[in-house]
Amino acid sequence: MREKTIRKTKTVCTYCGVGCSFDVWTKGRRILKIQPREEAPANGISTCVKGKFGWDFVNSEERLTRPLIRRGDVFEEADWEEAMAVIGEKLGAIRDRYGPDAIGLIASSKCTNEEAYLMQKLARAVIGTHNVDNCSRYCQSPATQGLFRTVGYGGDSGSISDIAQADLVIIVGSNTAESHPVLATRIKRAQKLHGQKVIVADLRKHEMAERADLFLRPRPGTDFVWLSALARYILDQGWHDASFLEERVNGLEEYRRSLEPFTMDFAEEITGIAVSDLIRAAEMIRDADTVCILWAMGVTQHTGGSDTSTAISNLLLVTGNYGRPGTGAYPLRGHNNVQGASDFGAMPHMFPGYEPVTDERVRKRYEEAWGVSLPDRPGWNNHQMVDAIHDGRLKAMYIVGEDMALVDANARRVQRAFEQLEFLIVQDLFLTRTAQFADVVLPASPSLEKEGTFTNTERRIQRLYPALEPLGDSLPDWQIIQKVARSLGADWSYEHPGEIMAEAARLSPMFAGVTYERLEGYRSLQWPVLPDGTDTPLLYRDRFAFPDGKARLHPMTWIPPRKREPSYDLHLNNGRILEHFHEGNMTARSAGIRSKVPRAFVEVSPEVAKERGLRNGMWVRLTSPYGQVRVPVLVTDRVRGRELYLTMNDHEEGAVNLLTGNDTDRETDTPAYKEYTVRMEVL
Ligand code: SF4
Repeated sequence: MREKTIRKTKTVCTYCGVGCSFDVWTKGRRILKIQPREEAPANGISTCVKGKFGWDFVNSEERLTRPLIRRGDVFEEADWEEAMAVIGEKLGAIRDRYGPDAIGLIASSKCTNEEAYLMQKLARAVIGTHNVDNCSRYCQSPATQGLFRTVGYGGDSGSISDIAQADLVIIVGSNTAESHPVLATRIKRAQKLHGQKVIVADLRKHEMAERADLFLRPRPGTDFVWLSALARYILDQGWHDASFLEERVNGLEEYRRSLEPFTMDFAEEITGIAVSDLIRAAEMIRDADTVCILWAMGVTQHTGGSDTSTAISNLLLVTGNYGRPGTGAYPLRGHNNVQGASDFGAMPHMFPGYEPVTDERVRKRYEEAWGVSLPDRPGWNNHQMVDAIHDGRLKAMYIVGEDMALVDANARRVQRAFEQLEFLIVQDLFLTRTAQFADVVLPASPSLEKEGTFTNTERRIQRLYPALEPLGDSLPDWQIIQKVARSLGADWSYEHPGEIMAEAARLSPMFAGVTYERLEGYRSLQWPVLPDGTDTPLLYRDRFAFPDGKARLHPMTWIPPRKREPSYDLHLNNGRILEHFHEGNMTARSAGIRSKVPRAFVEVSPEVAKERGLRNGMWVRLTSPYGQVRVPVLVTDRVRGRELYLTMNDHEEGAVNLLTGNDTDRETDTPAYKEYTVRMEVL
């Protein structure tokens, strides 16, 4: 019988780190409308096109509705009992034969905080390994590292609403208008209403670059140099905040010495940005009382991603731009819950709340709570796990909601690794590229079918409620993870995600005061949260997160990106577009969005188009040392000279990671997705 009742349910968008919340109106499984509300803390009454129209995928005929078990070359449908019997037997046998470190787990940044918590607990307490990671390894780990080095916490320093209060917003390597649209809307409004100034530094002349007061266009991979040159120039001119540095920051002298090479002339030579533009940027910083810096993958997905993130934070410290509304560091998180997946411990070196697994006192707390003994060394991150499969040390994986075979760099190498695993469990909404390598596929539920919490880019924890029943036999991820734990002998008996959050809050001081009651409806909390429920919309007001309360300027040297083979003569930039979410597994199954942007395309400059005789819509083959893609061309002056921009929303022949290789950020192993070069042939 068709459901006649119309229901209104509060949820949180599953498409980006802005974390817009809104009501979804449903009738049976039909989604009638999305209604943002004034009290939504991150977005108010705004959403973007994905938040409004990107939901058809929940009713896609391609949704997995039953567990699948591989029998030879085919998958056969099974019930949950059969699937769990296979998992318990196979995973248990691998653990017994090779030891717990032969198993690796990947949590999902699209899943809830409670699900991330359970994945790391499954790895640590049930299997006995710290081999657990999530996709922050693919994006913002370098930003977190830069902030750990300098100010102590890895999250955004303030709230999204604070950005509108800045006199000057500097955006580095972030296509904010397309990747974090509602946040960009706030900046556009502040430009119009309050005369907010904006500097954009990017390879590509995207919308925010067009709107900027100053557009800096560095050569690929050179942001570190111009940021350090600005810091040196500001110190040399005496435009720094001397009292802030004196009272609140350590390490000025050593840092200053490390800036010696970064003259304006050197910066112009390396970056190609004119000295006059660099001086203008320094003057704009001098003239602004409040400056915040936003950055994203254009910074982090490089071999020097952590160093450039550190240079950003150093510049903010030199100019006293921390601890007041409108100041601070905003590494914009990509996935809706990439912040929460890391916060709640799905990382190989940290327990929930960023407490190291190497700290005996912390480890003991978890050992006592879980009644287990835990390893004292960090596990492997997702990049190291792929290496460990290739050299025979990792035998089994459990991957939740992450299409690693497409979104990890050098996708063919990852796919070859999956072929070698003795046992692979994939839990997802669709039979993704990764799931095609699995031995058991488990059908999960999307955000609209489950309850829990997400944490957005501003450290804000928000609740989502189920608007729909799980489709077929699919289940919310927390229930499936619990089944897997039980198949391995654990006696878990969580009946509601609120119980999981209560356990995390008991164990992790960062979330001490987080309760479902305090998060009811549109209420939210920004971590750290004290036991009495006091949260922290603005970090570093009085002290930085180091024992002496002082920030640390971090001295560094410039290591240029690796030189590439000259016959690959075009630089390959890549990233999101407004309509799609990453590899497109969800948005490509939303009819309106797919009809508007059906596939990936490559942006080519007018110069290269003229040189190669290219027109819009012609197809080209791009070849790197790692593979090839076929895509249509868009000729545009958004890109310059020999720089290309390939959109990343294809899970077929245009998938960008068929071209990327194995280089990673030196500190965090985040793939250097933005550092590759390709050849182009017209088809
Ligand atoms: Fe969703 Fe981000 Fe758009 Fe908000 S800005 S509706 S969170 S995709």
